[in-house]
Amino acid sequence: MAMERMKLMVSRHHHHHRFLFLCKSSCCKRKTSSLILSPIWGCPSSTSRSSSSSSSSSSSSSSLPNSSAWRISSSSKSSSSGWLSSVFGKKEAAAAFVVPEIVKAGDPVLHEAAEEVDVEEIGSDRIQKIIEQMIYVLRKAPGVGLAAPQIAIPLRIIVLEDTKEYISYARKNEVEAQDRRPFDLLVIVNPKLKKKGNKSALFFEGCLSVDGFRAVVERHLEVEVTGFDREGRPLKVDASGWQARILQHECDHLDGTIYVDKLVPRTFRTIENLDMPLPVGCPQLGAR
Ligand SMILES: [Zn+2]
Repeated sequence: MAMERMKLMVSRHHHHHRFLFLCKSSCCKRKTSSLILSPIWGCPSSTSRSSSSSSSSSSSSSSLPNSSAWRISSSSKSSSSGWLSSVFGKKEAAAAFVVPEIVKAGDPVLHEAAEEVDVEEIGSDRIQKIIEQMIYVLRKAPGVGLAAPQIAIPLRIIVLEDTKEYISYARKNEVEAQDRRPFDLLVIVNPKLKKKGNKSALFFEGCLSVDGFRAVVERHLEVEVTGFDREGRPLKVDASGWQARILQHECDHLDGTIYVDKLVPRTFRTIENLDMPLPVGCPQLGAR
């Protein structure tokens, strides 16, 4: 039983590296000059062209228990259980917290509109647990945004966060062009997004449900989002630049839209090819 679980963990870990899944494990933290920088939804992944990256992933068994604990089972004694205990109390953390998998593109749940949460119910155990799971999954990935349908919950809840650390992995000139600045964790229930102004920007973006790919998507530069916070209090966020992009991406999920449904044609590509020139005739990246 334990052996089987171990095998599963190993295969998951390797799978994750083969597809350059975005992770926080030590093997992915290594900075190299040939990093492919993920402009959105994740940490830098080493390129598969770098031969050292594949050898380091197969030899990093010491980091395995933590980095591959995709599902935290009741028997897991990983360091993350400390975080869980602080949220749920020790007993509950040991008993009930199963980390959901991120639903991948192709699953119909990603193409259905999600339902509003009854505002009275935001404080309930059920909704609070969903929010905690979403935050955990978002940070574990790691990513900068997640919508509830991405963990197969068809409710209108999004979480987003961008940190100095994540941004430090991106290229300075890109960060500037994207107007990307850190912001604290935001939990928004029943978000309503309003586009402001008429400026937009074209940049590559990705999605935790579409591993290993990026595409150019046109997004509004400024948006206003209203909704409710995790305590059920009304909330309003005025966002611009990269945060506005994340908000639009996550709100799209709630309407059953993935970025691949609205990408600029012919710009869909693997992360390895992110730096290749755009096809002839494609619009230039940047604000417009
Ligand atoms: Zn997404």
